Amino acid sequence: MTTADLIVLGAGPGGYTTAARAAAGGAAVILFEPGELGGTCLNRGCIPTKALCRSAEVAVTVASASRFGVSVEGPVALSWPVASARKDEVVATLREGVATLLRNVTVVRERASFTPSGTIMAGGEEYSAPKIVIATGSRPAPLRAEGADLAVSSDELLSLPDVPESVAIVGGGVIGMEFASILAAFGVKVTVLEYCPEILPPFDAEIAKRLRMAMKRRGVNIVTGASVTAIRPGFAVDYEAKGKKATVEAALVLSAVGRRPVLPDGLEEAGIKVTPRGYIKVDDNMLTTRPGVHAIGDVNGRCMLAHAAEAQGAVALGEDIDLSVIPSAVFTMPECAMVGLTEKECQDLGYNIKVGKATFRSNGKALAIDEPDGLVKVITDTTTGRMLGCHICGPHAADLIQEAALAIAAGIPSAGVALTVHGHPTLSETLLQAVAASL
Ligand code: NAD
Repeated sequence: MTTADLIVLGAGPGGYTTAARAAAGGAAVILFEPGELGGTCLNRGCIPTKALCRSAEVAVTVASASRFGVSVEGPVALSWPVASARKDEVVATLREGVATLLRNVTVVRERASFTPSGTIMAGGEEYSAPKIVIATGSRPAPLRAEGADLAVSSDELLSLPDVPESVAIVGGGVIGMEFASILAAFGVKVTVLEYCPEILPPFDAEIAKRLRMAMKRRGVNIVTGASVTAIRPGFAVDYEAKGKKATVEAALVLSAVGRRPVLPDGLEEAGIKVTPRGYIKVDDNMLTTRPGVHAIGDVNGRCMLAHAAEAQGAVALGEDIDLSVIPSAVFTMPECAMVGLTEKECQDLGYNIKVGKATFRSNGKALAIDEPDGLVKVITDTTTGRMLGCHICGPHAADLIQEAALAIAAGIPSAGVALTVHGHPTLSETLLQAVAASL
């Protein structure tokens, strides 16, 4: 039996950062990963999609080059194969970075499973450690509709040799909207079918509506309240919305209806319980129902974001990190980002609130970069003066949200943010305006 101080299952952003952190502290660490280093985030998620988002932004910018006094000869030609090759280069570079980060970790390229005694079996060998971290991630959830097998997942869409003429996307969540934004920029006719009354259900409804309107202006057809009943060869997607049956025809159907955990074998026999929804059950220290075994990231279902997985890994190693404040972003055009509670959640929880809003339309930097669409919304608790939430739809929302995340996590009152001098001309002045309006 091979022993170590720490065993980690899975080399996604949760697993590899946890392994590297522990190794940097002098621990002997064994990391099991049968696939590519970097997990979903690096190989099939955050990073490749962000590389394609950039191609999409360049396409949109070049199309409006003449507004900036730049003339581009001839029609703008878009090449998915070239964009895709650049995406692959970005991924390969970062994968090398992960390998370097793991230089003091023993990486075993095998799928690991639990034995009833809580040791690990992989490639016919047995391993043990006083601390085990499960970070095995998630995979696309299956669509529950007739003919669902005809749809591709985001994994498959990322490796398409070229883009089709039209795509029907089932699910207007984060993945659905990011792909809608990318594909629309590549000239694909996109239809999004979302089950809920609004896209991006966890986001503040006003922000989600802003994005929906912006995407519609970019030519994306979005149907909300749509229940998909069948996908027929060819492809035709049958759905019901507002009591009426309808069909969308498309050259490709993308299913983006959530993700499901990937569980290692042997959990039950090892006394590691799973919730009714199939995630590994953990407490606030990410400890499972078996002493010494933690589960972090998508596999515990608490927050399916790469940075949440990394933070949970740090908590599993005993660090004191506030996991209640986790910013999230959608890399659409325009971007959307949020941290803290939505206006509806504040109302439902009975907070006394004041909502401050500011648009980018009067922001000098936003006008200078020709991105005046969008809104910043800040919610302040009028009893305590603390910021409860911040929601942004607009340029660089994913970066701007971090200031609000810091204020909420560090307990800086909204008045404290409002009294902080913000540089000019910057997009952050719109956040400042919204904070001031929430006092
Ligand atoms: P999601 O839960 O964000 O969205 C799925 C959407 O599909 C929901 O809006 C849901 O109402 C809808 N839906 C479900 N069944 C449907 C049906 N039968 N017909 C029509 N609509 C249906 O899931 P996702 O977009 O697949 O993303 C998975 C996870 O990955 C999320 O937790 C997300 O946070 C994470 N992720 C994050 C980022 C980011 O941070 N930028 C990017 C991609 C993915």
